[in-house]
Amino acid sequence: MPTFYDTHAHLDYPDYADDLPDVIARAQTAGITKIISIGTDLDSSRRAIQLAERFECVRAVVGWHPSDATRAPADIRADLRELARHRKVVALGETGLDYHRLPGATPGATPDDDKRYKARQADLFRQHLEVAAEFGMNCVIHQRDALDDTVAQLRPFASRVRGVFHCFADNAAAMERVLALNSLVSFTGIATFKNAQSVRDTIAAAPLNRFMLETDCPFLAPVPYRGKRCEPAYVKEISEVAAHARGCALEELSRATCETAREFFQRLD
Ligand SMILES: [Zn+2]
Ligand SMILES: [Zn+2]
Repeated sequence: MPTFYDTHAHLDYPDYADDLPDVIARAQTAGITKIISIGTDLDSSRRAIQLAERFECVRAVVGWHPSDATRAPADIRADLRELARHRKVVALGETGLDYHRLPGATPGATPDDDKRYKARQADLFRQHLEVAAEFGMNCVIHQRDALDDTVAQLRPFASRVRGVFHCFADNAAAMERVLALNSLVSFTGIATFKNAQSVRDTIAAAPLNRFMLETDCPFLAPVPYRGKRCEPAYVKEISEVAAHARGCALEELSRATCETAREFFQRLD
């Protein structure tokens, strides 16, 4: 059976509080042999590490999500350094820029609110990049409606830090800008949605060894589970659609995406 990794899961979310051992067992039955649990703030990152200690196949990524930037302490670099030393931490993140819901759109807000919000996200993103560069680690990057600024901020670090632009749903031209920085993309269950032909086109255009697969669970369950809780086992459904889009065998996709992940994430093996 071709095996795959789930390179982006949120196993610490309350959605799995009641049945996480079953969720992980189902992933292994489906051939998903490693799961990377991504932190979204310091507590979530600590929980991801605890899960990595508890389950052999789980690894952790530690960081603070840009959408929660206003809740973050002014400087989290000391915490990131401490967490990044753990033997099962494989990258920093998720970090990046998300302009999808700007505060300026709410009643009574001003354009200055947007400016401050973006500056806070940028500062937090820079802190992750600095610690990643210090540790020789890479970053899991969350980017939404902010590709120009994300690419611009990553560029000065690009010789030291690579990013994986996760949940990639843009076109091939946008992907080229990411690949030009020596960074990667990864694809979620969105690829299986009926209206997502453009994402399947991007998958078809992606060079082998420059992309990975992920669920972003509990979100974005692929067809035929769309709308339900997502879980790592469903990388299987995503891999089938990706292989079909590329016209390649599952074995080839398995080999390439797992190799790419082992090379991108520190201490994954
Ligand atoms: Zn994300
Ligand atoms: Zn995520």
